[in-house]
This record gives sequence, C-alpha cells and structure tokens, in this order.
Amino acid sequence: MTIAANVIEAIGRTPLIELRAASKATGCRILGKAEFMNPGGSVKDRAALFIVKDAVRRGTLKPGGLIVEGTAGNTGIGLALVANALGYSTVIVIPETQAKEKKDTLRLQGAQLLEVPAVPYANPNNYVKLSGRLAERLAKEHPQGAIWANQFDNLANRQAHIETTGPEIYDELNGEIDGFICACGTGGTLAGVGLALKERKPGVAIGLADPMGAALYSWYAHGELKSSGSSITEGIGQGRVTDNLVGAPVDFPCQIPDEEALPILFDLAQNEGLLLGGSSGVNVAGAIRLARELGPGHTIVTILCDGGGRYASKLFNPAFLREQKLPTPPWLEPREPVNP
Ligand code: PMP
Repeated sequence: MTIAANVIEAIGRTPLIELRAASKATGCRILGKAEFMNPGGSVKDRAALFIVKDAVRRGTLKPGGLIVEGTAGNTGIGLALVANALGYSTVIVIPETQAKEKKDTLRLQGAQLLEVPAVPYANPNNYVKLSGRLAERLAKEHPQGAIWANQFDNLANRQAHIETTGPEIYDELNGEIDGFICACGTGGTLAGVGLALKERKPGVAIGLADPMGAALYSWYAHGELKSSGSSITEGIGQGRVTDNLVGAPVDFPCQIPDEEALPILFDLAQNEGLLLGGSSGVNVAGAIRLARELGPGHTIVTILCDGGGRYASKLFNPAFLREQKLPTPPWLEPREPVNP
C-alpha cells in the first residue's frame, strides 16, 4: 500500500474477488472486479477522471470551470469528486427515476442537480441532450467557462478502461483469462476492457450482458437495434451504438432478465458478503452464461460496478420489489428487533 497524494490517486487498482456460488455452479473460476471500492463507489470514477484530465489537456476546462453532464448518477458522483478535488464545479442533469440515494450523494458533494423526466433518447428533452444544450449555454455564461463531459460519445471514457481497467485485469491474472463480460451504459467499460484484453490475448471471449429494454443484444446478435421488456437496473440499458461502443469486440451477446439477475444479487449479498447494485447482478448472470458457453475450467471476469447501499429504497426494498412483481427474499423483510 502506498500513500495517495489525493483522492484521485485512489481511483482504480481494485481487487478481483472470486465469486464462490457462480464458480461452483459452472466449474469455472468467475471473478468480479470490485469497482464499488473506488472512492466514488463505482466503476465510473475511472471514466470521470479521464474525461476531466482530457479536457484539461485540451485546454477546454479552465481553472474554476464548470463540468456539466447528463448521468444516471454514478458518472456524476465520479465527476463531482474529481471536480471537488481539483477546484471545478459540477452541474448534473439526472432522470427523476434514478435512486434517491445517488441524488442525495450528488447534493452532498455540492453538485447542482437538475432532475428531469425520463424520456427516450429520440426526444429532444432526453437528459443527455438537455445536458449538452445546458453546457453550451453555461460555457458562454459562466465566467470560467464550462465543458460537457459527454460520457456516451467522448472517447476519453473508454480510454480509461483501455489504459487502466483492462490492463489491471490482465496483469492481476498474469494473462490467465478466457472471458470477460459486462453490461453497457455508455459502453466505455465493455469496449475499453474488451479492446485492451483482445490486444493482449486475441482468444479472450468478450461478452455483452444486456438487460431487458436495451437494444444492444439484438444489435450484436442480429445487426438491428430492437428492444423489448424493461429492467429495474440503473446505469445500464443502451438503445444506440454510442461512439464509445464503435469497434467493441463482442463475441457473445446475451440478454438477462431481472428475474435471473436479482436472485444472484440477493445471494451474493447474503452468502458472499457482497452487497451490490443491480447492474452487477446482470453482469454476474452474464458471467455464468459465458462460463456455460465456454465450459468448465475457464477463468471469466466481470465487473462489480457499484454497491447496493445506493439502491436501498428500490432494489433492496421489499415494498418496491412487490410493486414490480419481482421476487423478494425473506431476509429483506423487516425483522423482530434483537433483545439487548
Ligand atoms: N453499472 C452502473 C451502476 C453504472 O452506473 C454504469 C454507468 N452508467 C454502468 C454499469 C455501465 O458502465 P459504462 O458506462 O462503462 O457502460
């Protein structure tokens, strides 16, 4: 362990954790990269740091400037922590539907929040498009200027995973890796890690674990953007090929319903001490599918994107789960208090 000069230096170099039940069920070694251990609590700290460093290098982000972004929350939290450490401010546009815990965190970080109705990307009032227009206006109005982080189409996002996440995984395993799989929000993680691993070991199988309601499974499986169903997961579920996804080397696309991801998520929480967010459930379900595709004896890595505490009011709330007609594990129900 070394001493980090500031919080930014504590981003990355996360451990790989063996997932016991998934490994046992498949005869493979299934490992999760513990991205919830980043200082902002998610995989998006890495992208946030690269986006800010890139804007500083290009000279678009000036001292004291504003960083504007549309985000499901985690990128905003990452941007706010990098901004606070380096003397910038953040303005975050977030769909109202996202978990309250993420919005509260952003407010605690001092980010200015603009909550907007969740509407599809094709709608001009979609949160991503709104954030772009807001950034353009604030760039003119704010004395120190403003940038749009634009995580979906800014390649500094996937560069973070090409330069850090991918090489870390390869090096941590001394190259002994057969498959990698994860879900997509921007696609930065999938494309970046996929490209970095393929460069080092072309035989590595790269999988996409797509939640219901997203269009990428049908894109990689059949060459058309089509979606059906829905998911309560947050931060994933893309409807278009973002710039970050262009050239992503996807060999094994699969689609994971919430009914498959949630029991895995609950089991990880109760039996392996890993309290994770919904996208991690989709990822681990995908890793199990990829393990079954490759057969026993292989090493497969996925991403544990963020922690479950961020979703206490939704994913881990029995009333919410019942409302969504999703399975509710008995241990989530209120219990008798322990007598002192
Ligand atoms: N899981 C969670 C919880 C996220 O917030 C995100 C990012 N929105 C992802 C997964 C997907 O990461 P990426 O943007 O790199 O595709």
